[in-house]
Amino acid sequence: MHECMLCQRDMKKSKSQFGNGCINNIFKFLDMKKPARGKNKEQFLYKNIMNKIGISKINKEQKIWLTDRYLTYQYLDQLHY
Ligand SMILES: [Zn+2]
Repeated sequence: MHECMLCQRDMKKSKSQFGNGCINNIFKFLDMKKPARGKNKEQFLYKNIMNKIGISKINKEQKIWLTDRYLTYQYLDQLHY
């Protein structure tokens, strides 16, 4: 079984890490422009985050790891503690 990284929803045979609803919410949450139609949203998101941080050559697992951490930090940043 393959689940969405964010909401754990079962995504059947999808190869992506996030469900469609979740990835759209991530773009909204990060105040990031969505890619043009037909473009791979996840790759676009990874690339955007990598650009923000200033790194270029990392593999797929590292991109997923980085995105996961980045989202966590952004989320914590928005909490007022
Ligand atoms: Zn999800």
